[in-house]
Amino acid sequence: MSASADHKVQAASLYAVCFNVRVLQRDNQMAAAKQWVDDDIGYENWLSAHQSGFMANMSKRPHSNYFVIHRSTHKLPDRSNPATRNPRTGNRYSKVTAETLTELVDWARRTVPALHHLSAQNFCDVCAPADALPVESPPTASPEEYITGADRIRACGTVKKPMGVVVPRSSTGTSTVFFRDPSVRAWVLQRAVGHCELCGNPAPFLTDDQEPFLESHHLITLSAGGPDTPDNAAAVCPNCHRNLHHGIDRDDLRERLSRTVVQKEAPR
Ligand SMILES: [Zn+2]
Ligand SMILES: [Zn+2]
Repeated sequence: MSASADHKVQAASLYAVCFNVRVLQRDNQMAAAKQWVDDDIGYENWLSAHQSGFMANMSKRPHSNYFVIHRSTHKLPDRSNPATRNPRTGNRYSKVTAETLTELVDWARRTVPALHHLSAQNFCDVCAPADALPVESPPTASPEEYITGADRIRACGTVKKPMGVVVPRSSTGTSTVFFRDPSVRAWVLQRAVGHCELCGNPAPFLTDDQEPFLESHHLITLSAGGPDTPDNAAAVCPNCHRNLHHGIDRDDLRERLSRTVVQKEAPR
């Protein structure tokens, strides 16, 4: 079963738990879920004050066609209309927030009859809001899963420095592939704050999630026996990445990048 199929199953079973808890909590007068309309500032303030909370992205008039629940730490794109004053909560869009998943689910069921039975589509695949614990993104040999695994880790909030893997596992088919730890990528992306760690320029473009796009580079390659750890990894722009591998000055560039990473990772 793929990791994302796994999350869907977990989301569905957690939903069943939510349903039972809901009845108990109704008597407890919990703080209600809140819908945000034309108030990006209020909404943003709520998010920063409730890092372990939840929110759902939806149209201004809640509809079952579009209702996706996320952790409040998942930074979402403003696709609606960036030119308006409230790109997140204005125009045709709005958000609903709650401190617990149960409240949010409860709100959906009360507000939109068709949301009475939430399905896996109503839970974000990236931040996996239905998982009580931070999602597992184990080392992987798949380049796509490496990137989505790192996205998933970052969507759960501030990344704690991972141990990484000193001797990465590899598998040998027609060529040798290494299992890379997505938490190392998540860490170096956070460390880079959207700028290439070699040339210092901002990432050349944003991804769908409006995250700056940078590639992961290992200072000592895994095939040369390098460890998959934060101090052997860097986030670089695609140009610098090619340059580090093929450029005429690559030895100097690698040296410079190593010094930068050592400096950044030095204990303070
Ligand atoms: Zn999400
Ligand atoms: Zn660069």
